[in-house]
Amino acid sequence: MTTDEQLRLDRRLLLLPPTPKDGAVTQDLLQRAGVETELCSTVRALVTEVQRGAAAVLLPEESIATASLELSAMVSQQAPWSDLPVMVLTRPGADSAEASLAMSELGNVTLLERPVRMATLLSTVRTALRARERQYQIRRQLAELREADRRKDEFLATLGHELRNPLSPILTCVELLKRGGVENPEFERTVAVMQRQAGHLVRLVDDLLEVSRITRGLIEVQHEPVDLADIVAAALETSRPIIEASEHHLRLEIAPGPTIVRGDNVRLTQVLANLLNNAAKYTDPGGTIEVAVRRTNATALITIRDNGIGIDPQSLSSVFDMFTQVSRSDRRTQGGLGIGLTLVRSLLALHGGSVTASSEGPGRGSTFEVRLPLAPSEAPNRNAAHGHKGFAGRRVLVVDDNQDATETLQTLLEALGATVVSAANGREALSQFERFQPDAVLLDIGMPGMDGYEVARRIRALAAGGATRLIALTGWGQQEDVRRCFEAGFNHHLVKPLDVDKLWEIVVGASATTH
Ligand code: ADP
Repeated sequence: MTTDEQLRLDRRLLLLPPTPKDGAVTQDLLQRAGVETELCSTVRALVTEVQRGAAAVLLPEESIATASLELSAMVSQQAPWSDLPVMVLTRPGADSAEASLAMSELGNVTLLERPVRMATLLSTVRTALRARERQYQIRRQLAELREADRRKDEFLATLGHELRNPLSPILTCVELLKRGGVENPEFERTVAVMQRQAGHLVRLVDDLLEVSRITRGLIEVQHEPVDLADIVAAALETSRPIIEASEHHLRLEIAPGPTIVRGDNVRLTQVLANLLNNAAKYTDPGGTIEVAVRRTNATALITIRDNGIGIDPQSLSSVFDMFTQVSRSDRRTQGGLGIGLTLVRSLLALHGGSVTASSEGPGRGSTFEVRLPLAPSEAPNRNAAHGHKGFAGRRVLVVDDNQDATETLQTLLEALGATVVSAANGREALSQFERFQPDAVLLDIGMPGMDGYEVARRIRALAAGGATRLIALTGWGQQEDVRRCFEAGFNHHLVKPLDVDKLWEIVVGASATTH
């Protein structure tokens, strides 16, 4: 249908006359006064015409008695901008039951007692048409807003892509400068600043692209069984640097056994890492961040609580809106665009989950609660088969030269019940091994000085080193790496990031079946 045709339909006054003769007379009078009218012979025809487009309707109260359900359905199904004017011709005398029904069910109703003076009818109809014209204006404005919103989304997507293109060679050049071998502290500092700032730009651009993909419905999530303990571990790995930099204390509480939801590993990790980053960002140095994973009936609940700057009650409901930053004057808000929480909410919605924020007010910390439906227990997954109860009573030595990595892993395994000791290099690992006598050693391969292969060989040569499970945890999963691990005496080879369930199978599950 053309726009002109639609405009014509939208201007019509629909008439449902008490009798055909009445209809012809009224239509003639109104048309002579310049009002476009259309006669309908039944309520059903009237309802159909209203759906095609109408400015107002005029009907006798008799039709309301016979078709009140159809009419009230027609009124209640209107678009949010629409409040269709309904004029009802009543019989003379006291108010009828139909008139009261019309008033309560049909919304924007004007009663006109018969016989109606022509001037009264005309002025009422004109008022109704004017009111409808206002509604059409609002409809146009809403359509314009939607179009502007769509263009904004498109603009953000284009902006993101265009900004990302030059960023990638800049980062490569910074990398080249770093490797250029210039030994000059001033130069190194400059390159480090460039690298940090370019990295920051990349994250902002990624967030922009991500949010524009979500708003345009272009993101798909996997729906695979995942254990929230793994997700927490991976998110901690991402957020550890910012938590460490602010010297926050981290407390973890993870319900024993697997907490399986159906979802997308990468996306759920992104959700938690965003919430952890915010907790770190909006909490003064030395504060505390608590992460808890619990299960209630059919729901998994992840709580991230901090004792930071808090959120005032008026802002609580808007923190999840796009580009919302509670206090722009706050130095800390400058690190983002105010889309992190929008992403969190949208990604959770794609998983059938939700997030809420609470705070007792400024200065009193914030709590974010994430809820996700637990996977049905019959869902096939290796974890349910084991129903693991954590690492209670197991002694694990974690060896990695990356302090963030060891601390994350240590906190996680301790939260799952293990007793954990860590070492930052090969030599320390050997002395810890003798003192601590662990059941299992998680060993990084690429360490300066003595590498993981050498540490494994030396542990195997020790009297107590025979029965320990040696597990290589590396970024490399090539066959050659795996072969070298086994040659050096490792029992297992796992690829980073650590899959907690696999580790459980090795450290607890396997020994439970072999002993
Ligand atoms: P950004 O951090 O980039 O500003 P977010 O969408 O992640 O954007 O957060 C929106 C706003 O919500 C933040 O600017 C901040 O004001 C508030 N906020 C988020 N997390 C916390 C928190 N843990 N404590 C206090 N305020 C928070």
